[in-house]
Amino acid sequence: MVVIQRYHQTMKKNEKASSTYDPLLQMLVRESDTSSDRIRSKLSSQYDWGFCELCWRSTEYAISMAAPKVFKRLERGNLKAVPLTNSMRIDAQEKTANLVARYERALEGEFGKYEASRMLGRYCDWQELRGDFSVEAFREHVERRMLVSTWTCQGELMWPAALPSHSEGASRPSKLYCEAHNPRRSNEARRAYQRDRRYALEYEDLIAKIWSQGAAVLPRWDIETWAEVRKTAYSQLQILKSPTSSVDDLLNQGITNQAEIARQLGVSRQAVSAAIRRRTRKQPSS
Ligand SMILES: [Zn+2]
Repeated sequence: MVVIQRYHQTMKKNEKASSTYDPLLQMLVRESDTSSDRIRSKLSSQYDWGFCELCWRSTEYAISMAAPKVFKRLERGNLKAVPLTNSMRIDAQEKTANLVARYERALEGEFGKYEASRMLGRYCDWQELRGDFSVEAFREHVERRMLVSTWTCQGELMWPAALPSHSEGASRPSKLYCEAHNPRRSNEARRAYQRDRRYALEYEDLIAKIWSQGAAVLPRWDIETWAEVRKTAYSQLQILKSPTSSVDDLLNQGITNQAEIARQLGVSRQAVSAAIRRRTRKQPSS
């Protein structure tokens, strides 16, 4: 395991020096290949690249990449989608089981001390593994890739973003926002974007605060934790934005202790007391 970890670290150092990981191409590309500075810096962040700037959801781009499709080219440039069938799944599962069994034996050192890391290098993606070299992680990555590669034997693999029929009219998947926050997607999304955009800095602050408070316990290598942190911060932000209604709810339930309200809403006591002050001001004096 130590060997693998060290290998992982040197790989990362080399990547940083000269190139950036392009999730769409699934390979390292030269820095200059990506469009704007903002997008380039976002995509080069190992964990942050797939999150919407304004919430915890995945960007349209990240989702489009997670949903590849296989197509067969027909005459006159037409495409026909190839469905993923059960027999393809079973075939992929069998191939996966064989590789996983071999990986288990490799971890025990049966094929020499480098075979396990060699297998990881060949069948997994270092970025996606996020420091987890367990058999389970290996299985999960190989399973998905095996399914896609088995499927691809029937035609040509394409991501929705690269489909010819999708490039006209509809705007391309956003690298910065989720579907609910992409201002070009719908009127509703534009309103959500305008509403949350004004609080973008506060949102970043809340995220940073949760990370620093949980520094000792939150696993930074775990992408699920990143999503959880962003989700928690987002719900805290909603209370900051419209504090009176949630505070009202609790007051109506008979909870009047500000510290208790703060605890239940997951915000600071100061935020609650500010909300109550605002609430009092709003109410007509009688
Ligand atoms: Zn969003």
